[in-house]
Amino acid sequence: MTEPLASLRAELRALLGAEQVIDGGDALAGLSKDFFWYSPVLRRQLDGKLADLAVRPGSVAELRAVVRACFRAGVPIIPRGAGTGNYGQCVPLYGGVVIDLARLDRIHSVDGGVVRAEAGARLGTIEGVARAAGWELRCIPSTWVKSTIGGFYCGGSGGIGSVTWGGINAGDNVKSVTVMTCEEEPRLLRLEERDSLRALHTYGTTGFLVEVEMRLAPKVDYEQLILSSPDWDRLLDWTDGFARDDAWQKRLVTQFEWPIPSYFKPLAKRLRPNEHATFLLVARAQAEAVIAAAAAAGVACVYRQPLPDPPRPPFITDYTWNHTTLWALKVDPTITYLQSGFGPNFREQFAELHRRFPGEILFHLEWMAGGIKFLPGGAANSAGGHMVVGGIPLVFFKTEERLAEIIRVCGEIGVGIANPHTYRLEEGGRHPNIADKRALKAEVDPSGLLNPGKMKSYPHNPFEPVPPTAGAR
Ligand SMILES: Cc1cc2nc3c(=O)[nH]c(=O)nc-3n(C[C@H](O)[C@H](O)[C@H](O)COP(=O)(O)OP(=O)(O)OC[C@H]3O[C@@H](n4cnc5c(N)ncnc54)[C@H](O)[C@@H]3O)c2cc1C
Repeated sequence: MTEPLASLRAELRALLGAEQVIDGGDALAGLSKDFFWYSPVLRRQLDGKLADLAVRPGSVAELRAVVRACFRAGVPIIPRGAGTGNYGQCVPLYGGVVIDLARLDRIHSVDGGVVRAEAGARLGTIEGVARAAGWELRCIPSTWVKSTIGGFYCGGSGGIGSVTWGGINAGDNVKSVTVMTCEEEPRLLRLEERDSLRALHTYGTTGFLVEVEMRLAPKVDYEQLILSSPDWDRLLDWTDGFARDDAWQKRLVTQFEWPIPSYFKPLAKRLRPNEHATFLLVARAQAEAVIAAAAAAGVACVYRQPLPDPPRPPFITDYTWNHTTLWALKVDPTITYLQSGFGPNFREQFAELHRRFPGEILFHLEWMAGGIKFLPGGAANSAGGHMVVGGIPLVFFKTEERLAEIIRVCGEIGVGIANPHTYRLEEGGRHPNIADKRALKAEVDPSGLLNPGKMKSYPHNPFEPVPPTAGAR
């Protein structure tokens, strides 16, 4: 360790206590990683990257003192929640200090359909507190038990609940975020309503989220259902019709192509071999009617389990969204994935991808509300907008060139891809307001210390060697 880093370590120990400063071993390696290993491309690029130190402040005041010390030392600073991100968002590219925000986990209030919580609060804990007060989170990732509200905001996009409420960025889902700047004297900035989206999905490059206010939905008692059919098109027609029908109150609509269901080992006894499956979270009061409607269309219900309140496992959500890829990887480590949004002609797009890449792609579909109509009294439906068939298809990985070819063909036939095989935020998703995000970064991080290298279009990265100018020797 260099002299300046050793003195920063001493300063951080004095601020937080030695036990909250990690400077080596498996603990530091763990805090330098996330779930980037889903991607063979990111594995090649990020394996072995390590922070110099990791710290765990326990309050906003401690965070401010830590940020001040790191700012003065001029080191890279990487915010971290639960570390469940998939794109190496938490991985330090140039060493430096990981700041683990998991101890900033106070839930201040659940009031009037809004939760106000510190950024390190776990979504699973918030969901329990919200339900006790008659509410539930509008959308949560399938990692909801463990992941933090700040990490979801800065690294995620949507998930369970999005079939009704869209992604984090939809409508009025976010009320405000409070961001701490990275300066000699760190300040707090409160960004409200749609203005808060400047800090959304920016991988910790635009300040430390210290507090988040999210709007909630009235709570519903759910039933977990699994439907099954050997006929892909029959199941797809039924599932798509169900997703688009606002008469059904639902939190999850997911369909898997066989053999994906065979990867879900704990469900082996319940799922039928060689059949495709649809996983649903529906209002318990409607479960009977849903099962009857499916049966009338020739689709069988093979699993039915109420979701307890407060929620207790087993959760069928543990097989959906990007958990599906995890189950697949356990069976076949050569599998990887894409994140896709299909068009209204999604049936033709599936057929075209199967034709162009036979045996290389398996469809895992997730339905999301694209345009949401928010109703008085805190309900929502998609009647005013449209339903998007998205998904996280599995890909049998051959080479990086072949993966790029699949992504290129998707583009050609109108399938939108949020590329999960890059750690640079602009290459991974759509950021129509990237200029606003860059402007926020310039304001909160004038020295370019926050998660350097992740916002590719930000011109100032002090840790990247300046290329020699033309003609220089
Ligand atoms: C099995 C699996 C399933 C998943 N399913 C989904 C899904 O359904 N939907 C979805 O959107 N995502 C999903 N993800 C990705 C991820 O789990 C979620 O986005 C999750 O909410 C991230 O939260 P986290 O606390 O783990 O964040 P982290 O991974 O710790 O951080 C994510 C990013 O946010 C930054 N960050 C974290 N906290 C702060 C803060 N307080 N201030 C500033 N920056 C911060 C980090 O620097 C990093 O860039 C999945 C991942 C896995 C492994």
